[in-house]
Amino acid sequence: MDNNISKRNELLAATVIEGLKSRNMTGYYAKNKEEALELALSLIPKGSSVTMGGAMSVHEIGLSIALKDGDYNFIDRDAYEDKRQAMLMAYDADFFLSSCNAMTRDGILINIDGNSNRVSAIAQGPKHVLFIVGMNKVCDDLDGAMKRARNVAAPINAQRFGLNTPCSKKGTCFDCKSPDTICCQFLITRYSRHEGRISVILVNDDLGY
Ligand code: SF4
Repeated sequence: MDNNISKRNELLAATVIEGLKSRNMTGYYAKNKEEALELALSLIPKGSSVTMGGAMSVHEIGLSIALKDGDYNFIDRDAYEDKRQAMLMAYDADFFLSSCNAMTRDGILINIDGNSNRVSAIAQGPKHVLFIVGMNKVCDDLDGAMKRARNVAAPINAQRFGLNTPCSKKGTCFDCKSPDTICCQFLITRYSRHEGRISVILVNDDLGY
């Protein structure tokens, strides 16, 4: 990452971390993917049960592999034929790993979901939620974050899953009601009542979509 961009990201991350603190959530800043991985592993005690939604950012820093190979009870939903059983196990996990579709510089997280297992686990269930968020996801305000979620993240995800939605063909949101829509639920996480439940590692890199 270019030094000038890194300096800007570090300064912006300090603002985001302040915003998270004001919302009873904890923020960290990692200078690169390697530091993000080390930090994430230091926050998850050995022996913890851990699961995740479909978060590219978690894969990109190497966290999913490290947990699978390490001394953790990693609940791999793809390994379960019974998806409902895997989802129910996720709600009882010690840690749920996720990224977000966008966040604001004052610490609000935005997630959209089709199946809604991800947004429901973020909202309630797992004892801890750990977000891995590239600085490319940080937007000026809630309006900017919603626009990013709908016009950047959703079209790319719809395309990657081969869904029949207007955004997968045109690259931007048409506020569709297609049977394939991935915009069934919008979760705006603006405060956590539970001290220490939600943490965010901001990474000085472009991660996910
Ligand atoms: S509402 Fe429809 S068109 Fe808009 S981003 Fe979601 S799936 Fe795509």
